[in-house]
Amino acid sequence: MQSLSNDPFELDAMIALRRDLHAHPELGFEEVRTSGLVAQWLSEAGIEIHRGLGKTGVVGTLRVGDGTRSIGLRADMDALAMPELAERPYKSQASNTMHACGHDGHTVMLLAAARHLARTRDFSGTVHFIFQPAEEGRGGAKAMVDDGLFTLFPMDAVYGLHNMPGLAPDEMAVVAGPQLASSDSWEVIFRGVGTHGAKPHLGRDAVTAAGHFLAAIHTIVARRVDPLQPAVVSACALSAGDFNALNVIPDEVRIGGTARAYTPAVRDQLEDEIGVVARGIAATFGIEADYRFKRRIPPVVNDVTATQAALSAAQAVTGRPVVVDFPPSTAGDDFAFFGAEAAGAYVWLGNGPAVDGALHHNSRYDFNDEAIITGARFWTALVEQELR
Ligand SMILES: [Zn+2]
Ligand SMILES: [Zn+2]
Repeated sequence: MQSLSNDPFELDAMIALRRDLHAHPELGFEEVRTSGLVAQWLSEAGIEIHRGLGKTGVVGTLRVGDGTRSIGLRADMDALAMPELAERPYKSQASNTMHACGHDGHTVMLLAAARHLARTRDFSGTVHFIFQPAEEGRGGAKAMVDDGLFTLFPMDAVYGLHNMPGLAPDEMAVVAGPQLASSDSWEVIFRGVGTHGAKPHLGRDAVTAAGHFLAAIHTIVARRVDPLQPAVVSACALSAGDFNALNVIPDEVRIGGTARAYTPAVRDQLEDEIGVVARGIAATFGIEADYRFKRRIPPVVNDVTATQAALSAAQAVTGRPVVVDFPPSTAGDDFAFFGAEAAGAYVWLGNGPAVDGALHHNSRYDFNDEAIITGARFWTALVEQELR
């Protein structure tokens, strides 16, 4: 216990744990080892745990005093399916799997705060430490909600945090309103009539239609969406034909992509307009278009009151002014599903300069251990302020 007074967040152990998680990354819904370690570190601190929400999710619950208010703090645990290319002592030992988004750091910061709060117990109310699986596009947050996260553990507010290169590791950005865009996918299949490449007039050319479509979708954001509303439409996948048959115009072309927005209205508009363009181009070329829009993640929009609470906690722990005019990201985060169930705020914690230019999802990215202390202090201050 003597060492703890000098080291309230068990920093050496937490850095070692962070690097251990980094060396043993696991993909979404496969976080068996990671969630086992999380459960073990929570249990050892006397925190009640509940496992199995969203398959590999873990919820730790700490009740202190007679306060009736309840809040949730969320860390995501999953890694990405990509190789780690940087050499470091704790380089990923799993093939084609890497913590390239810093979720290893998120996990450890929340654990450090949970264990500290379990020792100090300087609050009154209930805090749920939510260790979420599968944030990277595999639907972990929705799976936890569907498994009853908010009915088993009612919460008045819920908070999320993500590391951000470019801000210092003792610097935070806390901003009300939109933080992350909706992240939806779409797919178009142009169905023409295949023919000999030398006799295009005998068929219906889906390849040329696809070319027009690829150019035309960029008029949606440029000409249809309100210029004051951010939006993105990108085509990201394309398949048609065969390079071993360059004298054949194929029957079909398949195109897929992503659509991003910060408001439900613009999200609806993108869904409509991509279909309008696809069907219009298909009609021009006398072919068919099958269109499918798949809603994946709503935008993350910070609640004003929850943001104020997060701002106050951030101000209490960082040695510099909290950034309040940080631009939203066109990335998405399924924390949006938690924010739909309770007042939510999603904040940014600095990860220091981008080392060798490596940003999130880069094969050389690494969470900065210097940020652990700031993150752990932030979570602690938030609980102590919110559950006074
Ligand atoms: Zn990510
Ligand atoms: Zn992430």
